[in-house]
Amino acid sequence: MFNMILVGPPGSGKGTQAERMIHKYRFIPIALGALLRQQMAENGTNKVLIEKYINSGQLVPDHLSFELVTQLVQAQPADASFLFDGFPRTIPQVTFLDHFLKQCGAQINGVIFLDVSNEILLKRLKNRATIEKRPDDQDVCKIKTRMQIYEQETRPILNHYKAQGKLHRIDGTQSVDEVTKAIAAIMDRLIRP
Ligand code: ADP
Repeated sequence: MFNMILVGPPGSGKGTQAERMIHKYRFIPIALGALLRQQMAENGTNKVLIEKYINSGQLVPDHLSFELVTQLVQAQPADASFLFDGFPRTIPQVTFLDHFLKQCGAQINGVIFLDVSNEILLKRLKNRATIEKRPDDQDVCKIKTRMQIYEQETRPILNHYKAQGKLHRIDGTQSVDEVTKAIAAIMDRLIRP
């Protein structure tokens, strides 16, 4: 088991880079935002609840995300390697994941942080709104709510992993290919130290 986390503000390019990493390093993806949107689309039992949070730019309650993560990890072979994208986003989620992986005899091996300034994020998300039509990208208030939640709830998790020597910062304003290259350099060092 070799587990990585991809973390960054909304619009930092996590989804794009996660896809490339999954392909190259054969990770099992745990992309919480995408999974929640999929549950909404499939009219699952928690559709209304999930919709309420996601569409307003709020984080869904922990019991939902913890249950999803647990199910997904347990459905894979014990030696599978996971790429967590969009989870954990808060200190309680970090505590849950650390504890859960420990129970599975595993840990987080590295955290890749895609750093992008708020000004660039706002431009990217407004542009994405016209392409992907995600409801949470459609108005500036919702985008600002997500950016504020990121600053208040998610940024503190960076210090947690930094203190463990697991945090790797990448300039997310570079081109998509340059970011991929920077991630590959980190991955190669982690896999073959
Ligand atoms: P982005 O990071 O660009 O906002 P995501 O697809 O990762 O996009 O997440 C979209 C939404 O899904 C979030 O605004 C939130 O409502 C929900 N979500 C994603 N990850 C989490 C999480 N770890 N905890 C709670 N809610 C989450």
